[in-house]
Amino acid sequence: MDYSNYFTQFPDEDGEFAGYGGAYLPPPLIPVFAEITAAYQGLAQDEQFLEELRSIRKHYQGRPTPVFHAKNLSAANGGAQIYLKREDLNHTGAHKLNHCMGEGLLAKYLGKRKLIAETGAGQHGVALATAAAYFGLECEIHMGEVDIAKESPNVSRMKLLGAKVVPVTHGLKTLKEAVDSAFEAYMADADDSIYCIGSVVGPHPFPMLVRDFQRVVGIEAREQMLELTGALPDAVCACVGGGSNAMGIFSAFLDDPVELFGVEPMGKGTKLGEHAASMEYGEPGVIHAFKCYMLQDEDGEPAPVHSIASGLDYPGVGPEHCMLKDDGRVTYGGCSDDECMDAFFKLCRLEGIIPAIESSHAVHYALELAKKMKTGAVLVNLSGRGDKDLDFVIENYGYGE
Ligand SMILES: *Cc1c(COP(=O)(O)O)cnc(C)c1O
Repeated sequence: MDYSNYFTQFPDEDGEFAGYGGAYLPPPLIPVFAEITAAYQGLAQDEQFLEELRSIRKHYQGRPTPVFHAKNLSAANGGAQIYLKREDLNHTGAHKLNHCMGEGLLAKYLGKRKLIAETGAGQHGVALATAAAYFGLECEIHMGEVDIAKESPNVSRMKLLGAKVVPVTHGLKTLKEAVDSAFEAYMADADDSIYCIGSVVGPHPFPMLVRDFQRVVGIEAREQMLELTGALPDAVCACVGGGSNAMGIFSAFLDDPVELFGVEPMGKGTKLGEHAASMEYGEPGVIHAFKCYMLQDEDGEPAPVHSIASGLDYPGVGPEHCMLKDDGRVTYGGCSDDECMDAFFKLCRLEGIIPAIESSHAVHYALELAKKMKTGAVLVNLSGRGDKDLDFVIENYGYGE
């Protein structure tokens, strides 16, 4: 594949990435999504929109986030040097705000009054509620009752930020039902509201729109590596749940001689239900109105998944990743629950950085890669901070000794 004018080619006019993606929507929503696509394509060229987004990133989010040379970690590990793109220092503590602020700004330009979304562990809900507060919009977050009970700090955050949390009480009362419930609420109120997806997934134009809003991570990191080291990194690693932080950082290096590695959650075993490695073990299928590698049960329904990192436990993956896998441009590997915790504790002790469990998957993979490489530089997207994970870690793994 030719990566020199990649962004004008992908997605194509049908919203597809070499057959993945698209928009498998109920008929009443087809014109609604077409309207969002058309409006976004105009705004992506609109200087006022872009200037407002740049200003938000700088003055509200605290961008650019630094790239940090993890010298202690690199020395203890041996081999290539490790560099961290510090998305954990972005406001709210993760990369998710990059696309939520973009989605909020889009809603404002479209004249919408309300942001609607679902959330699993609550990370997307908190980032979106933050954007809604900033833009003075209403925010309605659908969340399974089981998740509400498990994730009470995030529920409190959303409420403090002024969001309405709608409990979903049918089925398994978790993420899948929350998606259905959010979609229903959106269909009933599409004139006044906009549905905001939390990763590079869902129907077109969301995989494109979320990727575009996350590209800032890669653009900054590429410049920062050149400034710090005088060269591009030899390899870039990022964890892949839906795939937004990975697309954000990979996108800047697609046309460079840089190896790209996406890291999927291998959980606690290889059986269906023990992991969430959609590209490793999945087959193409349609989930939440788009086509991708998907973990499926015997009936072709999305299978139950597991990961220690709640931000990675999704049975599908962004369509762009599926294309990049098939083309061989990105290599997808894995990291288990226990391996990621090992990397988590190393980063705490050696660098004074408490990472998100999600991000620790990428750190582990990078450490293994750096050992094999012996020299050179590996850049890791440290997608978020670990404050949200502390109670879980201490209860289950103690203090790492
Ligand atoms: C949600 C989340 C992820 C996974 O989402 P992607 O879309 O795959 O990036 C990774 N890291 C953190 C910290 C998250 O909150």
